[in-house]
Amino acid sequence: MVARAARATDLADLDGAVSNCFACPRLVAWREEVARVKRAAFRDQDYWGRPVPGFGPPDARIGILGLAPAAHGGNRTGRIFTGDRSGDVLFAALHRAGLANQATSVSADDGLALRDTRIFASVRCAPPDNKPTPAERDTCAPWLHREVALIRPTLRVVVALGAFAWAAWWPVLRDVYAQRPPTPRPAFGHGAHWSGTAAPELLGCYHVSQQNTFTGRLTPAMLDDVFARAKDLAGVD
Ligand code: SF4
Repeated sequence: MVARAARATDLADLDGAVSNCFACPRLVAWREEVARVKRAAFRDQDYWGRPVPGFGPPDARIGILGLAPAAHGGNRTGRIFTGDRSGDVLFAALHRAGLANQATSVSADDGLALRDTRIFASVRCAPPDNKPTPAERDTCAPWLHREVALIRPTLRVVVALGAFAWAAWWPVLRDVYAQRPPTPRPAFGHGAHWSGTAAPELLGCYHVSQQNTFTGRLTPAMLDDVFARAKDLAGVD
């Protein structure tokens, strides 16, 4: 699996390869079970039921790093943050920031396009309770690392959505940028900012989960501030 990720020569190749990954038995079983049983509201739809690739142009200057696809969102539609409430919040914010051509993301063929931005997950398969194990995180890391390596020429800023994504970034520093991660690791927080040399700036942002957005822990204004800062640091107009 590591070798297959490393061999990907471009994003299309990587996206195709990751879609056919079966390396984590628990997650393979879960993604396929969810796709078979379905949620009642989507019972007439064919679920994707496979790993979910990143989304966005290959010359992105801003990366958005999430946790993992949602069982009835990305695992259903085949596109990250598509078809669930988290995506509704995220893409509305990206549209306000001028980084998405529309505010909604409902299906893989809905015409959504991103500008200067690519979204990818730390773990590419939907996990039970949104909680991958450390072993699953580590098994999936080569896909993330190769994706970052492929967009490295333009990537300037990474927005980590939540503590899991924030923690998943440090091994990228070592494997892609040949940099030793800082010790101790900077703590995650909303608005946290870490700057390295010759690596993208890292911004922390609360995850766009319903748990955060429904409770007001993460507001649209807070997201707008993060993306304005990301654009500024990345030199995006
Ligand atoms: S989580 Fe990652 S490594 Fe595991 S099966 Fe899915 S794509 Fe493969």
